[in-house]
Amino acid sequence: MSIVVTDIEGTTSDIAFVQRVLFPYARVHLPDFVRAHAGLPEVAPWLAMVADEIRVADDHLPAIIAALLSWIDADRKHTALKALQGQIWKRGFENGEFKAHVYDDAVRALQRWKSADVPVYVYSSGSVQAQRLYFKHTEHGDLSGMFHGHFDTTIGNKREADSYRAIAARLNVEPASITFYSDIGAELDAAQEAGWNTVQLVRGDTTPAPGHRQVASFDSLDQTV
Ligand SMILES: [Mg+2]
Repeated sequence: MSIVVTDIEGTTSDIAFVQRVLFPYARVHLPDFVRAHAGLPEVAPWLAMVADEIRVADDHLPAIIAALLSWIDADRKHTALKALQGQIWKRGFENGEFKAHVYDDAVRALQRWKSADVPVYVYSSGSVQAQRLYFKHTEHGDLSGMFHGHFDTTIGNKREADSYRAIAARLNVEPASITFYSDIGAELDAAQEAGWNTVQLVRGDTTPAPGHRQVASFDSLDQTV
């Protein structure tokens, strides 16, 4: 039995979409979103978490917004920030403000795997919720049904072998039956250390990672996995 685990950014999808479309959109809309929805049950607890951390009252929205924006600028992956970004993206996707980018060859690979009954999982630093949202609203339509499941960094850092061991244990399969697709050498090294097969997608300005199979696109795979 073979299992596929894939990264998103730089692997199934263009890094530029996330960096140039999604993150700037969340930054621009964050202040209005917080002011308009501060009282919602899916928003209020995250604002309270920020307020607690920066030691202001829960209703001190200007200070909370300023903190969130400073965290975005510092590229801080704070849980509250990620949750709020996810909700802002959800509205953007659902309002049709943008569609998620997925490479044509990645879509073809997902279709091949689906017809061959190869289970496909995602392992990405974006939250599981954001991953689902992403593949639900792509330029190629709703691809969410192509995946058996999703993993994010709550299972561990993508550059540590223990994270890949934990995923294999969760899937209850031998590490050698899993193939991991990513553009990042350090992630592939960690997966390999855990006994996984690895393939690097070398697209555009990807830095080639020695010690791993390399392909320019999923079309280059000469077998299903
Ligand atoms: Mg990547």
